[in-house]
Amino acid sequence: MKTIGLIGGMSWESSMLYYQIINERVKERKGGHHSAKSLLYSVDFQEIKDLQHQGNWTEATKIMIESAQKLEAGGAEVLVICTNTMHKMAPEVMNSVSIPLLHIADATANKIVSDHIKKVALLGTAFTMEEPFYKGRLVDRFGLEVVVPDEADRVVIHDIIYNELCLGIINEHSKKRYLDIIDSLIRKGAEAVILGCTEIAMLISKDDCNIPIYDTTRLHAEAAVDYALGDEESK
Ligand code: GLU
Repeated sequence: MKTIGLIGGMSWESSMLYYQIINERVKERKGGHHSAKSLLYSVDFQEIKDLQHQGNWTEATKIMIESAQKLEAGGAEVLVICTNTMHKMAPEVMNSVSIPLLHIADATANKIVSDHIKKVALLGTAFTMEEPFYKGRLVDRFGLEVVVPDEADRVVIHDIIYNELCLGIINEHSKKRYLDIIDSLIRKGAEAVILGCTEIAMLISKDDCNIPIYDTTRLHAEAAVDYALGDEESK
């Protein structure tokens, strides 16, 4: 079993989910008392959030690179960045270490493609919904058609992520707003929705939606375990 290195804390609410899903997956595959070999480097999210919103991506990239290098030095054999947004600097992080980085969009898109879905809605932070680093990858590498909410709705989605979900606040009214926005994207032809922010599954589950949901947290965490275990036999 390879050791998984997690760059977390963005937010810690979702890093907890990664830790849980990763260990559940190892137990499911190997049984007994097996659990994941992992290292977590958890940042101070206030610092990251400030840098993101100031547009200081140079400094944010430095922190991600340092985190990755610390994990590699500590013995991690594969890297996972536990947030969609901070994949903005995935290429720089990848180039700064010699261990592989498993990209969250790839883990998600592989499953969508295998389910023969072509047109997906994408919910996430404004950075994820608006910038090419994420949408572009889904389109260029996986041939998906991606729809995002209109501008006013993107603000709603973004603000609920930072002002509520990243603080562990689950609000029924916010859930209703998300579901209304998903309905508007279904009307634009979306066949499925990507929960492209690692906290959204705290608010929305598959039972709430009329179309399939792709939870990036779960898909990414499970992909990390499958990489770490490879073809390892159970037990
Ligand atoms: N966890 C979120 C994401 O998946 C947002 C927090 C962040 O800005 O990293 O994008």
